[in-house]
Amino acid sequence: MKILIQDARILPMTGEGDEARGSIAIEDGVICQIGEVDTSFKADLVVDGSYHVALPGLINTHTHAAMQYFKNFNDAETNLQSWLQSVWSYEAVMSDEDIYWGSLSAIAEMIAGGTTCFNDMYFSVPETIRALQETHMKGTVGLTLFGDEQESRERIERSLHSLLNVKRESKGLIDLTIAPHAPYTCTDGTYRLAAEVARDHDLMVHTHLSESLFEVEESKKTLGESPVAHLNSLDSLHSNTLCAHVVHTDTHDVATLKKQNAAVLHNPSSNCKLSNGIAPIRRYMDEGIRVALGTDGSSSNNTLDMFREMRLAAMISASQGTPLSPYEIVEMATKTGAQVLGRLDTSGTLEVGKDADIILVDTRGIHTTPINNPYSALVFTLASCDVSSVFIRGKLVYHSKQFTEIDINTIREQLCLHWESMKQRVIRKRRST
Ligand SMILES: [Zn+2]
Repeated sequence: MKILIQDARILPMTGEGDEARGSIAIEDGVICQIGEVDTSFKADLVVDGSYHVALPGLINTHTHAAMQYFKNFNDAETNLQSWLQSVWSYEAVMSDEDIYWGSLSAIAEMIAGGTTCFNDMYFSVPETIRALQETHMKGTVGLTLFGDEQESRERIERSLHSLLNVKRESKGLIDLTIAPHAPYTCTDGTYRLAAEVARDHDLMVHTHLSESLFEVEESKKTLGESPVAHLNSLDSLHSNTLCAHVVHTDTHDVATLKKQNAAVLHNPSSNCKLSNGIAPIRRYMDEGIRVALGTDGSSSNNTLDMFREMRLAAMISASQGTPLSPYEIVEMATKTGAQVLGRLDTSGTLEVGKDADIILVDTRGIHTTPINNPYSALVFTLASCDVSSVFIRGKLVYHSKQFTEIDINTIREQLCLHWESMKQRVIRKRRST
């Protein structure tokens, strides 16, 4: 299949000055020409890119896709611990089918907002994989661990082999991490086991870390050290470690993250919504720590909208007097996202030989006219609803704001049905206890 995107303003994210007006030629899912395209290239499909910016698909590096059910739910809970208690009572009754429809809904929302790849952590991973396979979305799924080493070992023995097979057969669309949830929900043994399995199978480790002040204070009280220092003492911080949040750190923590080359996944909406504070991202980046962007789940954000996330990341960094530039923000959401997920050889920038993970963003809205700087426009004025077309490995999964692979009405209906059923199950369970 040969596709030509014609006459777009191309932002390849290979450097701030690397902007071109022109076309992108795609063959068998891969970018084969960019900018000037030979007239000999005969496309099976031509997509008009005029009045659009073309950039790499956004990469959401931290989410819990199936938590779609918890949008604008329990928003009055404004601290992490009480909010977690409330959500856990619903998760306790979640079925595999609930997780499948939640994941499908999340993928649809992400595609419509220009996201072409996400990094997930949740239960019943095969259901999220089923949703990924049906939508042609790129996803890195986490074999999620809670509790002690014995429990974690059983989970790993039950599912690692089949998940590694899925990863192998997906030819790069689906990747796998080992995902111990957090230092306050997993024992030291679980973290040691996660590091060992990751090493043995060349996988990344994905975890929540230093998300709330409460977590850090409890760690210092009970263990005598910060969560960052503690994971390092367990030999669990490396260049393959993806640390979500990392809001509260001291000078030693920053030095440790830098020395171990661990990646930080910044989730500003979630951190604000759960009153966890603002992560010192400028400081991390100035130290050379890799920082990518994520939304966290819909439960602690209410959306999976990477445009809003970019805007908030810019706003709160500026509000602290440590601004990130618009280019740095878009880079966090594209190139660095791909880099931390180990996907930079195929994703994250628009270059010949890479997968055609491309989004076209319509710039004709009055709210975004004129465009003086395209990166500022992406961060501050353009919105997810301006995304008009999305290609994932050359497949046009969203075109003229319509899904090509997904029956969105069925997903909407099923999501509501499953949520009503889940609420009834929680009521019945509470009555019976
Ligand atoms: Zn999270």
